[in-house]
Amino acid sequence: MRRGAKAWLGGWSSPIFKRSKFGIGKGRVNTLKSCISVESYQILLYYLYRPFDDTAGYLAEHLELCETLALRGRVLIADEGLNGTVSGRRDMTERYMKVLREDSRTEGIQFKVDPAEGHAFPRLNIKRREEVVTLDLGEEDFSPGETTGEHLTPEQWREWMTRDDTVLVDARNQYEWELGHFEGALLPPVENFRDLPGWVRENRSQLEGKKIMTYCTGGIRCEKFSGFLLREGFSEVYQLDGGIVTYGKEAGVKGEGFAGKCYVFDQRVGVEVNHTTGAKVVSRCFHCGAASDRYVNCGWSRCNRQYFCCEACDRDRLRFCSSVCEEASILSVASLGIGCD
Ligand SMILES: [Zn+2]
Ligand SMILES: [Zn+2]
Repeated sequence: MRRGAKAWLGGWSSPIFKRSKFGIGKGRVNTLKSCISVESYQILLYYLYRPFDDTAGYLAEHLELCETLALRGRVLIADEGLNGTVSGRRDMTERYMKVLREDSRTEGIQFKVDPAEGHAFPRLNIKRREEVVTLDLGEEDFSPGETTGEHLTPEQWREWMTRDDTVLVDARNQYEWELGHFEGALLPPVENFRDLPGWVRENRSQLEGKKIMTYCTGGIRCEKFSGFLLREGFSEVYQLDGGIVTYGKEAGVKGEGFAGKCYVFDQRVGVEVNHTTGAKVVSRCFHCGAASDRYVNCGWSRCNRQYFCCEACDRDRLRFCSSVCEEASILSVASLGIGCD
């Protein structure tokens, strides 16, 4: 049963993987911290559409790999491929990328790599799913391996985004594009990826007769969404290769034309994309309307709504999104008898 895993783990000869190396005391960690660079961690983002022969077996191996490397984050594994974002020490994440690149089941996989000062996730979570991203198409479902839009490089994308015969469509959710998006893009007000097909069917007129350019965070949702558009009868559909994250890193374009920050699903929440002089803040404080890209969660735990809030309003409103939440929070504390005697 574990034979496959052993073969996979066999290449790890580096002493770094010996358990004893992890057994360092607290004081030792602190000393180490002060000697090493502040950016000694990395955050990886990746996906691969390639069917696994033994998905359950692969998942077990992958879990063991991530645990051994002390990685944290979220990895979804399906029969059709995998989709993940993990954080870890630089040497560990480098090792992880090497293992995946050298494994015939995942060779050719591309990683987006960001330096970090520490972990970006509280824990490791590896799950098996039916699909790596889901559009909930039921009987009409298809594999992006068969149908997907043509990939545009960041340079092609920048050139095409200002043409009259193109239309840009943001394939992400509203809470993501509110923090930042390509200028001039159509921004579907959806809460979930699976709501996008319905939006397309209701807004066909905005897309018809145009070259449709779709984009998302790292590219995986567009693999599916662009294929869906082709199957809906749109003939010219293109997708941004590597997503917004790659667009922001590409030296030739430096994120030009992207306004605001890119929403990411880790503790950073947002990352810079536009490194040209055209960078700006597009989101506004929910309370006062001032430009702000500070995303906070409502202070009442039952609400927990994520919203933009400037620093001044954060202090004034005690992080509550509304007076209703502020009162509800006081009442729920009072009902527990806290503060009363
Ligand atoms: Zn404010
Ligand atoms: Zn609230």
